[in-house]
Amino acid sequence: MTTASWNEISEAEHFVQFCETDAFLINSVSEFIGTGLRAGDAGIVLGTMPHRESLEERLKGDGLAVAAAHERGQYVSIDAAATLSKLMVDGSPDPGRFVEVIGSMIMRAAQGWSRVRVFGELVALLWADGNRAAAIRLEELWNDLARTSSFSLFCAYPMQGFGRGAYEAEFTEICKRHSRVVPAESYAALTSPDERLRAITLLQQKANSLEAEIVERKVAEKALRLSEIRYRRLFEAARDGVLILDPETRKILDANPFMEDLLGYPREELIGKELFEIGLLKDMSANQAMLRELQVKNCIRYEESLETTMGKPQEIEVVANLYDEGEKSIIQCNIRDITERKEIERRKDDFISMASHELKTPITSLKGFTQVLQRRLKKHADQEALRFLTIMDIQLNKLTNLINELLDISKMQQGKLDYREEYFDLDALIQEVVENLQAGTSTHQLLIEGRTAVQAFGDRDRIGQVLINLLTNAIKYSSEADMVLVCASKDEENAVVSVQDFGIGIAAAHHKQIFERFYQVTAPEEKTYSGLGMGLYICAEIIKRHQGRIWVESRKDHGSTFSFTLPLQMYHARASGNSSVTFPLKRGRAT
Ligand code: ADP
Repeated sequence: MTTASWNEISEAEHFVQFCETDAFLINSVSEFIGTGLRAGDAGIVLGTMPHRESLEERLKGDGLAVAAAHERGQYVSIDAAATLSKLMVDGSPDPGRFVEVIGSMIMRAAQGWSRVRVFGELVALLWADGNRAAAIRLEELWNDLARTSSFSLFCAYPMQGFGRGAYEAEFTEICKRHSRVVPAESYAALTSPDERLRAITLLQQKANSLEAEIVERKVAEKALRLSEIRYRRLFEAARDGVLILDPETRKILDANPFMEDLLGYPREELIGKELFEIGLLKDMSANQAMLRELQVKNCIRYEESLETTMGKPQEIEVVANLYDEGEKSIIQCNIRDITERKEIERRKDDFISMASHELKTPITSLKGFTQVLQRRLKKHADQEALRFLTIMDIQLNKLTNLINELLDISKMQQGKLDYREEYFDLDALIQEVVENLQAGTSTHQLLIEGRTAVQAFGDRDRIGQVLINLLTNAIKYSSEADMVLVCASKDEENAVVSVQDFGIGIAAAHHKQIFERFYQVTAPEEKTYSGLGMGLYICAEIIKRHQGRIWVESRKDHGSTFSFTLPLQMYHARASGNSSVTFPLKRGRAT
């Protein structure tokens, strides 16, 4: 609206101005009131304190004698909030009070002046407060009043108050309650009809695209909600326990219903606790260590025994994952009751152990009789029969080895495998094992390169067993080759022993698993090599118990190098003559 049009305002006009900025509001109101004061009209301002002050400044700046007008009763400026509080009853403007306060104010002004102009921010305050129904009701009271008194009313609403689509209906209601609606400045500033048409077209386009966007967003929201419901159900119905933790506070944020079954605590009691407080870790330091490890690895797995009231411990497996969720991270723990699985495993181990013992008795007897027969046939010089017996003996040795391996494994599982603790010459052991195996091998030459030059501390026979396993595998899996290399060396921290063959090699995908119990690269139905997948597991367990490391470097068809280390620091014990240094082998259950 231009200055000229403020003059054109008819007596009973009730119009609304939408504003984007305060500056524009003050501009419009000062023109509306200023034009009136100059023409001998009364001006009533029901505004906020800052608006009233700016307005007065502005009117003065425009050359109007505001103070004098005030004195004469031509200019009235009253605080909107204070006025509003006089009108409101139970959150709504009261018609009686409205007439009393506002009606009489207008009446007074109308007596001395030709027309009355009112600028009111009461409705804008109610709107900003979120009391939109009251704002609309107040607009109606203004309209009712206009039927009996004559005044023109300027209402202003900040445009930002209508940012959400949900206000569309109320916005229309407000517009309906005014005889004239003045759009916000970005439109009002345009002067030529062409510019205004272009602006409207642009707004129509914007409105269209926003509507399309809203539809799209609603579809996306629905899909998201469905997906959320689906995963919620999964969480609620899972027969594994699920916990969500905050990595910073270490506290539980959420727990699924199954956690209740698993631990016997009500779900609400789990929220806000740390893992150790509900028995999922031994103590606070174990809890902290676990979280530190999780920060490094992002995913860890561990097993724990929970005390139960029934006396029998409950075995659980915890898989913890650290997930980055943008601003924050969360930890998700999946907890499974493995008591039954453990029990079955234990029974299986017991069975293997028992079966091996049972098998050993007839084998020992067979072995004894084979030796007796060998002696007898030697006397009778029956070469053919002797050859058969030798073959039988070799097969019996293989059988004995297999049974021993089975026994070792079941003992390892139960943490019952004994380890001797002694110093021994590692190079001499390597030499001895290689010579023994060479004596029984005509297909391959076994070569030793280098020396470790250390006195090892641990179980000589068990380390020998590791070497025998690695060398036997090297020969077994390289039938096309004719050489196996044993490399011995030491670095700053370890003695390092490697066994290299030039055989079939192992694809990278199997490198970790071949050290697991009963794991074999070829499936049983395609099997071309004998064996039960126990040797490398036993090697790994033995090396682990000696605080060493075992690994393989290999590619399919390019041979394999198996290496293991034994840490040097345990040998320093003897060098320094420190008798208080304890043997670092871990006792208890192998993990
Ligand atoms: P197995 O008695 O089957 O040889 P191991 O535990 O000693 O059991 O080895 C596990 C698996 O690893 C073997 O079945 C074989 O597939 C693979 N493997 C072990 N050593 C070698 C090697 N030197 N070359 C190629 N594959 C090997």
